Amino acid sequence: MDSLDDLLDGVGKAVADGFPRIKLKFRPGWDLPMLSAVRKQHSQHPIHIDCNSGYRLSDLKLFQQADEFELAMYEQPLPHDDVVDHAELQRQVRTPVCLDESVYNVRQAELAIRLKSCRFVNIKPSRVGGVTNAIAIHDLCQAARIPCWIGGMLESAVGANLCVALAMLDNFTYPADIFPSSRFYREDIGTPPLELIRLPDGTPGVRATQQLPDPHPDRLRKLTVQQAVLETK
Ligand SMILES: [Mg+2]
Repeated sequence: MDSLDDLLDGVGKAVADGFPRIKLKFRPGWDLPMLSAVRKQHSQHPIHIDCNSGYRLSDLKLFQQADEFELAMYEQPLPHDDVVDHAELQRQVRTPVCLDESVYNVRQAELAIRLKSCRFVNIKPSRVGGVTNAIAIHDLCQAARIPCWIGGMLESAVGANLCVALAMLDNFTYPADIFPSSRFYREDIGTPPLELIRLPDGTPGVRATQQLPDPHPDRLRKLTVQQAVLETK
């Protein structure tokens, strides 16, 4: 957002619209004062911050200060490949640490669990190497009592529907980053597009389809900038 006013305005509208939690991007220069302003207006709403690896363990004090805002989690505060410093940070803050970028395969999930680097894991099938790995990480986390949630990576309707199906597994307990097609695409390259619906209690949601949407070959062709054919013998 360009300004704090724009941010507060956007958050206010989303909360009024029934969205169940607030996720704030958090970086040096756009941190505690921003967070404090949002928390002041939404004292009871679940809030978490996503730091996208913007900090180092030397910023420990900042995260100890942020503990006072009673956040649901700190998402990926430290470097993208780290599980060691995150473990140290988690020992020294009250708020749960959530790993995103750092859990890029099943092995990293095992290490993070063993080192106690986090108390949440964000799973994106496209980050961890597909659906099979996503389920394996979900199962490892469930056994370790670490809740998960589905993150988003600008999926088309095809990828987003996979995310919806995954999000129904038992250990995905925190609201997902799954967006309707219209948020990112004028025309989704999968049909039918993923649409925002209202759940019976009024909260916004999406509907899983029985079958995965089809990639739309004409649109795909129109948008293709490069193509390669791989052949096996
Ligand atoms: Mg993230």
